[in-house]
Amino acid sequence: MDVKDKLKIPRQEMPEQDPRVRAKNFLEVPLGYSPKTAQLEAQRCLNCKVPKCMGGCPVGVKIPEFLKLIVDGDFAAAARKIKETNALPAVCGRVCPQESQCEETCILGKKKDPIAIGRLERFVADYERENNLIKIPKKLPPNGKKVAVVGSGPSGLTVAGDLIKLGYKVTIFEALHKPGGVLIYGIPEFRLPKAIVESEVNYLVKQGVKLELNKVIGASRTVEDLMKKDGYDAIYLGVGAGLPRFMNIEGENLSYVYSANEYLTRINLMKAYLYPQHYTPIALGRNVTVVGGGNVTMDSARCALRTGAKSVTVVYRRAREQMPARAEEIHHAEQEGIIFNLLSNPVELIGDEHGTVKTMKCIKMELGEPDESGRRRPIPIEGSEFIIETDLVIMSIGASANPLLTSTMPALELNKWGYIVADEKGKTSMKGIFAGGDIVTGAATVISAMGAGKKAACAIDNYLKSKK
Ligand code: FAD
Ligand code: SF4
Repeated sequence: MDVKDKLKIPRQEMPEQDPRVRAKNFLEVPLGYSPKTAQLEAQRCLNCKVPKCMGGCPVGVKIPEFLKLIVDGDFAAAARKIKETNALPAVCGRVCPQESQCEETCILGKKKDPIAIGRLERFVADYERENNLIKIPKKLPPNGKKVAVVGSGPSGLTVAGDLIKLGYKVTIFEALHKPGGVLIYGIPEFRLPKAIVESEVNYLVKQGVKLELNKVIGASRTVEDLMKKDGYDAIYLGVGAGLPRFMNIEGENLSYVYSANEYLTRINLMKAYLYPQHYTPIALGRNVTVVGGGNVTMDSARCALRTGAKSVTVVYRRAREQMPARAEEIHHAEQEGIIFNLLSNPVELIGDEHGTVKTMKCIKMELGEPDESGRRRPIPIEGSEFIIETDLVIMSIGASANPLLTSTMPALELNKWGYIVADEKGKTSMKGIFAGGDIVTGAATVISAMGAGKKAACAIDNYLKSKK
């Protein structure tokens, strides 16, 4: 097919559940490509001599090569091609912000819509899994060295996946009873089905990665114990940034005021999403207000809707253009009936005589000059206070570094916000201790946490080889 014909093919849409139906269930919203649609979409690729798309991918997925395999109809080989550099394609195909990464740099995007790289990544990973075509990759022979990974989020899983292939014994220590980090306790079922995360984790377990769940390092065991008593040769800290932030306004301690972290953990890990089979009816019949404007806000709001809220309102202090959530997530939330109260900020939560939240006092905001984040600073408009009736509030204004582990490591250098200081290869101030993901960068993305994990795995390998 010549370039002219390729340019005539429109970007292929992905079918979705009807908004009115999906607002009442936790099934996945986008339904995925069919093999025929996937091939048509992949045919649009121009096979550029300098594929700019790859430069936009933090883990360097060989995009044109996997697209070519789709065109040839070898979907399992396409999935394996992605897995050469990305251990979690079914996850990334669903949650990566491709519009600001590989798809943003795709050359086709200059004239037409870019290739739907994320949708195709998802398609081949699903095809491989659903058709039982997953093959366990070859490993180097055991080299006698042991590495401990603390935290089983995307960065920890990536380190474990890369090191097990190089012949290391790898054990992941995870505080929660389920592995996956935010992928399992944060991102809801309708965006990332739990079975997919479980399958990606099983892929690592089948390769020999050991998992120790319910192990809070820093409490039940320290990093020093792991090194000195358990004989680990190197340790990777991928503990994320899961400490919820609050606004420090009056009324935040009232009943039915949650952090988004707690709320989403109740939905995902305490199975509120399976109500009534599991009795965790967290929003049933309530008027829910979610404060914030990121992906976590959209996830919390859409979960509240699906668990039976009467109404769900997002309160955000800037305008829609400044919302950090992915455009697609905001669009999906709007379609489902979430109300947006923009340029508004809570100043107080007011409760009833039982200490349960009943109303939220807000103030209107206007946008001033850009602040240090580059976005226009929201400024309160004097005398513009107003009341929102609400009986469940979710605070979703970000998260910070949890000091639980780092406070037990006085020699570990932290920055002023409590994040671990590490170089671009994940090396920390302590010998043999590496770190990456959100605990180094602050809240970021799945793929950036994985990118950090890849670099750290390489650095750990070099460190342990040089020790030999
Ligand atoms: P995490 O995923 O946070 O994993 C850290 C793990 O370490 C956790 O399992 C934790 O229990 C464990 N742990 C912590 N302390 C200890 C300890 N002391 N001992 C043992 N284990 C410990 N990014 C995207 O790219 N796209 C999205 O759509 C998206 N949506 C998001 C939605 C939500 C609700 C949230 C919260 C985040 C979202 N993100 C998204 C951000 C993304 O999930 C994170 O950037 C990413 O998960 C960070 O990976 P990580 O491995 O550094 O940490
Ligand atoms: Fe194909 Fe776009 Fe990459 Fe070019 S930049 S090789 S068109 S995906």
